[in-house]
Amino acid sequence: MPDMDTIVSLCKRRGYIFPSSEIYGGYGGFWDYGPLGVELKNNVKRAWWKAVVQERDDVVGQDAAIVMNPEVWRASGHVTEFTDPLVDCKSCKRRFRADDVKGDVCPECGGELTDVRRFNLMFKTFVGPVEDQAAVAYLRPETAQGIFVNFLNVQTAMRKKLPFGIAQIGKAFRNELTPGNFTFRSREFEQMEVEYFVRPGTDEEWHQRWIQDRYDWYIRLGIRAESLRIRPHTKDELAHYARACADVEYNFPMGWAELEGIANRTDFDLRQHSQASGRDLTFYDEETGEHIIPYVIEPSGGVDRAMLTFLLDAYHEEEVRKEKRVVLRLHKDLAPIKVAVLPLLRNRPEIVTLAREITRTLKPHMMAVYDDTGAIGRLYRRQDEVGTPFCVTVDVQSLEDRAVTIRARDFMEQIRVSVAELKDVLLDELS
Ligand SMILES: [Zn+2]
Repeated sequence: MPDMDTIVSLCKRRGYIFPSSEIYGGYGGFWDYGPLGVELKNNVKRAWWKAVVQERDDVVGQDAAIVMNPEVWRASGHVTEFTDPLVDCKSCKRRFRADDVKGDVCPECGGELTDVRRFNLMFKTFVGPVEDQAAVAYLRPETAQGIFVNFLNVQTAMRKKLPFGIAQIGKAFRNELTPGNFTFRSREFEQMEVEYFVRPGTDEEWHQRWIQDRYDWYIRLGIRAESLRIRPHTKDELAHYARACADVEYNFPMGWAELEGIANRTDFDLRQHSQASGRDLTFYDEETGEHIIPYVIEPSGGVDRAMLTFLLDAYHEEEVRKEKRVVLRLHKDLAPIKVAVLPLLRNRPEIVTLAREITRTLKPHMMAVYDDTGAIGRLYRRQDEVGTPFCVTVDVQSLEDRAVTIRARDFMEQIRVSVAELKDVLLDELS
């Protein structure tokens, strides 16, 4: 397991993740994804969507607006409940989460602290031309509410019967007092959430199924089982709306921490929104003639946190011929670049031409790049370090026999294939 600094440095050096607005000194709790970062992030989202929407027939997708009617956040309880307790130091003016302070004086300077105040984590903005209280709106602190308010629309439009789910991926914002551990806790982040609506009474069974499903998803994408565990919440940890919750946890450099939470939210949200909006958000069961307020199981994961986990877990250092080799053993579905085409001799125009031509023919089928900016050993090391599963090397002999060498990332084994077969061989390996 690498330490966090090793991953932060690799991410910066290789174009995965940069501090936001870095030329102005960065901005606490905000991060920018670089050329490889955006590819990995898209691949994580695609893998999730495939597993929870595309491969199931009981879940559909949606994409709600980030800024919603502020009534949503009053009904959901966020305006009053979504707070952290904080204290200020009267001397040095530093601010702390009350739970982080041991004792009753400032941990930095020993000064006197204020009483505990509730600090709301939602970012505020104004909608429309007048900046008064009536125009206050919020950047959503979770994607979930965008799903609850569309329950009726989706259920009616898609003619869904219980149990069924609605999935969404999107940005969410929280004014965290203490962002940190790289992208683990940031103020702008992306969520992948499902709200899965079930008949009351079947909720506990569905809760267990979703916990297992979500755990299996991380294992399938290569996370090592010894670094992953399921931890049920104790009663005093539960959010105000939850009957039960379990976290899929990963053993991060700073210790075991939540990777994804799977909560049983009961009928809390639909009931709240029914009351506040005056709309009937029940499900009408044609067979029994009953109106049911469904219970909700919510698997809620973070794109950024999942991505950080995949990077940490994939990182390996090993010794090859007395030299250190850094290799990211990313799952092939997640790797940003699938294949790099490299000319063995970059000063031989015929080799360069052939290598570029091969890259062009691969590009419509997979993320392929051409690189001739160094000697071959250096080019291999660079691709290993960003997790590229395959390198294709074009050499002098290729000009004669129209064949190239494929080198696999993990064990560095090499095979020779004809240029004509290359695309199919690679697609086969990547599928
Ligand atoms: Zn102080």
